[in-house]
Amino acid sequence: MSRELQKEQYVCLVCGFNMVGYHPEKCPFCGASKKEFITSEECSARFAVQGFTVNEKVTRLNSVPSLGLEHSAYRIKTTKNTYWIDCPSSFDTRLEPMDIITFTHHHFLGASNQYREHFSSQVCIHKLDSDHAICQAFTFDKTFQDNFTEDGIEAFPIDGHTPGFTFYIFDDILFVCDYVFIKDGKMLYNPFGPEKETREGGAKLKGIIRNRDIKIVCGYNYVVDYVEWQKKFDKLCVW
Ligand SMILES: [Zn+2]
Ligand SMILES: [Zn+2]
Repeated sequence: MSRELQKEQYVCLVCGFNMVGYHPEKCPFCGASKKEFITSEECSARFAVQGFTVNEKVTRLNSVPSLGLEHSAYRIKTTKNTYWIDCPSSFDTRLEPMDIITFTHHHFLGASNQYREHFSSQVCIHKLDSDHAICQAFTFDKTFQDNFTEDGIEAFPIDGHTPGFTFYIFDDILFVCDYVFIKDGKMLYNPFGPEKETREGGAKLKGIIRNRDIKIVCGYNYVVDYVEWQKKFDKLCVW
């Protein structure tokens, strides 16, 4: 395979999934047909990634205009390094460099392969999620299986929505991605995963966060006050 072919990359306009090194008939993530794909170059020309302040250390990153089922990624600046939690679907080289991209799960890998190469960053994900077929074209520099803390960022694998789903806490912020949806003012578990395991993971999440001083929750399409989020979560997650 030539170098050019190896760099072939398409982005699904329906879900934002990046297809690296091949041009399938259907999106492996959402099933949309090939006519919904654009090349990665076209994607970078049409979409920018913009930062929105959460607090002085944390920034929400989104494609602008929104790209398909747009999801938020988050940048955390610790005293030592710049981290991303999850990764935007569009590749924008104007962003500040990041040292580490760490994932909540394998649904929002975005253009992480391109960011990794361009910024020489390290990409991390739970081992069980790294094994999924959809990840095979992506490089992970580090996989983990247990809780860990790095530069003040705490990672908690809870299984459920995906086998390696991991939520994070940094300072007083909870990063929970798409484990739960907030729809019409109500919260529900993400239905795209095994129901029983998702509920069990929710109980683990509840147990871990109940004695923590959390103020803000960063989700895949929202940033909300913890008190407001917790009220809804408590109704969803009855022991
Ligand atoms: Zn798709
Ligand atoms: Zn997901």
